Parts: sequence; C-alpha cells; structure tokens
Amino acid sequence: MKTIRLREGKERSLQRQHPWVFQGSVEKGRADAGETVRVESHSGEFLAWAAFSPDSTIRLRAWSFDEAERIDADFFRRRLAVAVAMRSRLGLRSNGVRLVHGEADGLPGLIVDRYEDILSVQFLATGVERWKAVIADALLAATGCTRLYERSDSSVRQLEGLDPVKGWLRGEGSTTVTLHEHDIRLTVDVEAGHKTGYYLDQRENRALFARLVRQLGCKSVLNCYSYTGGFSVSALAGGATEVVSVDSSGPALARASAHVELNGFNPAHHTTLDADVNATLRQMLKEGRQFDAIVLDPPKFAPTAAHADRASRAYKDINRLGLKLLKPGGLLLTFSCSGGIGADLFHKIVAGAGLDAGVDAYILQRLEASSDHPTTVNFPEGEYLKGLVLLKR
Ligand code: SAH
Repeated sequence: MKTIRLREGKERSLQRQHPWVFQGSVEKGRADAGETVRVESHSGEFLAWAAFSPDSTIRLRAWSFDEAERIDADFFRRRLAVAVAMRSRLGLRSNGVRLVHGEADGLPGLIVDRYEDILSVQFLATGVERWKAVIADALLAATGCTRLYERSDSSVRQLEGLDPVKGWLRGEGSTTVTLHEHDIRLTVDVEAGHKTGYYLDQRENRALFARLVRQLGCKSVLNCYSYTGGFSVSALAGGATEVVSVDSSGPALARASAHVELNGFNPAHHTTLDADVNATLRQMLKEGRQFDAIVLDPPKFAPTAAHADRASRAYKDINRLGLKLLKPGGLLLTFSCSGGIGADLFHKIVAGAGLDAGVDAYILQRLEASSDHPTTVNFPEGEYLKGLVLLKR
C-alpha cells in the first residue's frame, strides 16, 4: 500500500471528514490512477484511505476515515447497501430514483440512477473507474436489476484523464423505459437522454408545480428550457390549458409533445417553440404576451465559481424578462443548477432582476434537489440545485 503525505496544516479538511484533497496539499507520494492509498498528515498520522488521481487537481478522494476499514469488494457492497436502503425510506412516488449520489453516499465520483429495471451509471473519477466491475456486480446484487447502462460520457471525466464511455455494462435490450412520477408518465432513454437519461432531481419540484398551478388556477404557462416537457406535463396535470414549451433542442420538444399525448392531455393545450429562450422572452415582451405561470430551468450557466460573474448576468437577464412577462399575481419557478452559484448568490441575482424589472414578488418557497440527491453536513459542495417559488405582487 502506497502512502501519500500531506503538507503541514493540510490535514484539517480530512480530519473534518471532507472527502477531497487538492493537488497543492500533497507533500510527497505517487500512485497509479485510482489506486487506493493511505493518506497521512505531515507528522505521519493516519487520515484516510483514498483513491489517487494523478491528473486531477482533486488529487485524492477519500473512501474511508477509519484506519481499520479495508477498501475491497465488501466495502463497496456495504456502502451501496446503505445508499440503497436510504432511498427505500424516502417514500418517493416514482420508479426513477437516484440510488447513489457520489460523495454524499461515501462513493466519490459514482452516480447511479434507477429507471424501472435499468441502472444508469456514471463513473466520474479514477477511483470508481478502477473498481467498476466490482461496483457493477454489487449494484445488480443490491437492487435485483439485471441491466446496467454506463453513461460515463460526461465532460468532467476529462479532468480525471479518463475517456468518455457509453454502452451496456451488464445486460442489454431496449434503452427506453416509462417513468411513472407522481401522477405523470415520461419516457426516458438512458442512451440518448441528458445526464443518466433524465432530470430526477426536479421530481418533487415538478409535482409541486402541478399543485400550485391547480391551487392558483393558472391557465397560461410558459416552460423555458423545457427539455422533454416535464414541467409542461405537470402544468397540464394542474389544469393549465395554454402551455408553451421553449427549448433549443428539436428532438427534446418532439418528446415533450409525445409526453402530452402519453398522459392523455389535449394536444391543442400545448405548443412547442424551438428557439433560444432569451430571444423568445424578449420577443414575447415586445408582443405584450403575459402568462399566469413561468418556469425557468436553464442549463448550468456556471460549472464552477470561476464562471460566476458571466453566469450571474445571464440568470439576472432571464429572471428580469420572466418577471415582466408574468401577470400580476403570477407564479414563477426559477432555478439554477450551477455548482458555482450558491443559494444566497442566486437569491441576490433574482432580487436584482426584480429591481430591474420594477417588480416585487413574494417568496413562497425555496427549493432544492429531491431528497434522493442528498447533501451531507461534511460535504456542502454537493449542493448544486437551488430554486425559488415567487408570486408576483
Ligand atoms: N426543465 C427540464 C430540464 C432542463 S435541462 C426538466 O425538468 O426536464 C436544460 C434544457 O435547456 C435542455 O433541454 C437544453 O436543450 C435547453 N437549452 C440550453 N440552452 C438553451 C437556450 N439558449 N435556449 C433554449 N433552450 C436551451
């Protein structure tokens, strides 16, 4: 077993059980990609067992802070059992569930989403890449699933010196399943869909939107960055009769239309717009359009804090336009999934947007990712999705 020694004073974050050690904290020691190493403080004290990542600025990702623990197949079985058991206690109303959420489940770099009988998995760091076969078998054993599709085609793998990989790792067959989420149904293709196939993190927010649309009697709804129309179908489920889905992806919009029919809603109540959201919002404002409810769920404008400035301006712009396009009393659900923009900053950006729009709004609720995408007290960086429910005054 190789040992990595940290610089003086750099032991604190591992002592607080934070799982990452950056490149600059390492004093000496090297290992192969994904190899398990013993991490010691400058004075030689045990700190953690970790996976070594020679090409990444995150040089070490901790597996365990317990010196007696062995990092072997059994270790992965135990961690996966805890993660799967936690989800079974959440009372989620869906056959699409995030079973493993990386660092939050003590498995840095591993994402596992279950869609009905398919596990869709991302191996995003060298440690889980090295243990891939063990993890795949343990996942099938822990869930009873027989099929596992690998979606390690995320760009973050480049930071780890890993190539993109995509395809069946265990089992085979159709990559499309029907997701039953609360009272709606959505088709998911684990091969072609975004991330592992879909945005399960917005599940509870989609259900909330359906409830609010009904409660507030919203009829006209603008769903911006609609992807395959999850919030649009939710709006129809809440009784909306004029729903517009805007996205720059034609295939995503085609699926949104198919989802309206799949759920038995009147196709005449839904239109799609293959266009840039920002340009669309400006155009609609010029035309004097107004909506009872608007959803703004853009892609990640700021992947890291370094992009925060430009991203802040982009978020402010769409929120300013969105607030203007709402009728008085209208409902806005606005989100950011940028890790580089914290909840406080996002709230400030939206407040600035309101000021610029000359609009005030009640904050009904603050939103986050659904509970199967947990954050832990030791790893606050895991928090990425934040949202606000606003009611225009
Ligand atoms: N709300 C969706 C997820 C949104 S993902 C859900 O609940 O399922 C972000 C979407 O934004 C993607 O579908 C992408 O195609 C779209 N997109 C990215 N940039 C865009 C732009 N400038 N204008 C319109 N759509 C855009």
